[in-house]
Amino acid sequence: MAITAPLLWLDGELVDVSAATTPLLGHAAQRGSLVFDVGSFHRTRHGVALFRPREHVERLVQSARIVGLGVGFDVPALVDAAALVVARCGGEAGLVRWSVLYASGESDLLPRDARTRVVVAAQLLEDTAPARPLRVAMFDDARKASADVLPPEAKVAAAYLGPMLARRRAQAAGADDVVLLDRDGNLAEAPVANVFVVKDGVIRTPALGSVLPGITRATVLELAREEGLRAEEVSLPARALTEADEAFFTGTPLPLRAVGEVDGRSLGDGREGPLTRRLSDRLRRVLAGEDPAHAAWLHPV
Ligand code: PMP
Repeated sequence: MAITAPLLWLDGELVDVSAATTPLLGHAAQRGSLVFDVGSFHRTRHGVALFRPREHVERLVQSARIVGLGVGFDVPALVDAAALVVARCGGEAGLVRWSVLYASGESDLLPRDARTRVVVAAQLLEDTAPARPLRVAMFDDARKASADVLPPEAKVAAAYLGPMLARRRAQAAGADDVVLLDRDGNLAEAPVANVFVVKDGVIRTPALGSVLPGITRATVLELAREEGLRAEEVSLPARALTEADEAFFTGTPLPLRAVGEVDGRSLGDGREGPLTRRLSDRLRRVLAGEDPAHAAWLHPV
């Protein structure tokens, strides 16, 4: 659970969260056209810092371009807005959420009034219990929309409906989450995370094309290669997950979380595997500002 900080950045001004409303009958609510991105901030040894905010904002702009929403602010302005709401929230670790949505109350499929609003909010995470490995499910008919229906690069509200139903189904079956397949039945991603498998010391994740280009995914691929590990982006059959030695999810809030069970069967001994732990520790050091080689990924607030 995330709790939104009371001050939001709305079109260039700080406003109280209660003042930032969207019309109930407007396009964002009725058609799910709101685009968004979620970054994170961390307590580092040099103070509070955002992690790779430029990459998050660039992905937001790309999502907006796909959906056809204008973003009236440039990338540096939206990074600064994030730094401002984070500084004002007073927290030391949490999420930052950028959103772009149609401003008008029209719900017509193609609104005539194309004006948009841009909102940036800091969100504090409630204390979470120590993370145990995830239990995940896969269903042959729980698939991502294919790229010709909806490009996977677009973080748009409407894209999360299918994944939401699939996660509900997984939870009804006793799992924590679901791994969705692509149109061809290969591994794609979880509703809000990318998936990695480890087999015989090689780390693999589905290639771009059917998955969101996760910023944690890119970070972990880079860190794995720096560690001298083989890390590949390839097409993976569903059994690559059930037969993996280790598997993990990556995503901004996680940021790297072991998978311990797939469809009711343990992966290995069901605990966090050695390569998962090594990458997770390495990522934790980067986020804490303890890795000078990647200081540029941290943006002080
Ligand atoms: N896939 C999807 C569909 C997501 O929504 C997310 C969360 N943004 C991810 C993967 C992970 O991306 P990131 O590491 O950039 O948070």
